[in-house]
Amino acid sequence: MSDCIFCKIANGEIPSATLYEDDDFRVILDLGPASKGHSLILPKAHAANIFEMPRDLLGKAMALAGDIGEKLVKGLPCDGLNVVQNNGESAGQTVFHFHIHLIPRMKDDHAGVSWKPGTLTEEDKQAVLAIFGK
Ligand code: AMP
Ligand code: ZN
Repeated sequence: MSDCIFCKIANGEIPSATLYEDDDFRVILDLGPASKGHSLILPKAHAANIFEMPRDLLGKAMALAGDIGEKLVKGLPCDGLNVVQNNGESAGQTVFHFHIHLIPRMKDDHAGVSWKPGTLTEEDKQAVLAIFGK
């Protein structure tokens, strides 16, 4: 995708603060971090979202989230990590090239990765189970 900024960053056409790189991925520091060390895992091949990602690469991406996340948490003054991945505008996606956020967390920080719990109604439960033939 010639006009995709994350394609250009992932493939080194635009410089970035790179923590890690291999044949399939580049891991960079987010320019608008929610916390110190907030990083992004970017595949080098364009996929707009999780649905377009080859499944074997999704497995590699999650393994990378474990490896890089562990290094971040051990190396920074923090004790937690959010692994966040947004798909679609309504889910907060703003750059339409698949990426995984690694957000180091500390107790009482203000990173704010949270939601207000609702209630699982019987109607909703049955509707979703039906999608899976249950
Ligand atoms: P999302 O809202 O899940 O699509 O996340 C997009 C993320 O990309 C945000 O956290 C931005 O701060 C980050 N971002 C956007 N442009 C750049 C860039 N050029 N380099 C690094 N991070 C970026
Ligand atoms: Zn792209």
